[in-house]
Amino acid sequence: MKFAVFLDIDGVLNTRTTVERTPDGYTGIDDARVDIIAKAVRKYGDTDIVLSSDWKELKQDDDDFIYLTSKLEKQGLHLAGKTSDHWNNRGEGILRYLDSHPEINEFVILDDNRFDFLDYPKLWERLLITRGVERAVFASDTPAVEAIIFLDYIKLFS
Ligand SMILES: [Mg+2]
Repeated sequence: MKFAVFLDIDGVLNTRTTVERTPDGYTGIDDARVDIIAKAVRKYGDTDIVLSSDWKELKQDDDDFIYLTSKLEKQGLHLAGKTSDHWNNRGEGILRYLDSHPEINEFVILDDNRFDFLDYPKLWERLLITRGVERAVFASDTPAVEAIIFLDYIKLFS
């Protein structure tokens, strides 16, 4: 059994009031928010963190990408992979990733935007809409059980 978190960055690990900046001068990542996700993941068990954020378009050796991975790794989080998508069809990218990783049988999506997620009930029921991870709420009126559990853990550690 394998659990995955599809992770957006902006609006999840930061908000518009975040002061921290990346090496290239963009809105940075708040350690307190990484800490919440790290603790929730540890409590959930064996978890793959998959980058679905636009940060995935950065090259591996880009200063900002190195900044991202070091912020995550400082708290024990490693990126297992990233999705690929076009025209903001982030849900399609996640479905493709799931297709090529059949070992993942439970997952949640952390994102502050809805994109195309509503087109796919399986994704919509596992989407936690954020305004900063500590203010995550269910997208769906009928959330999947892993979304219910994971949101509980987020609240526990917020
Ligand atoms: Mg975002």
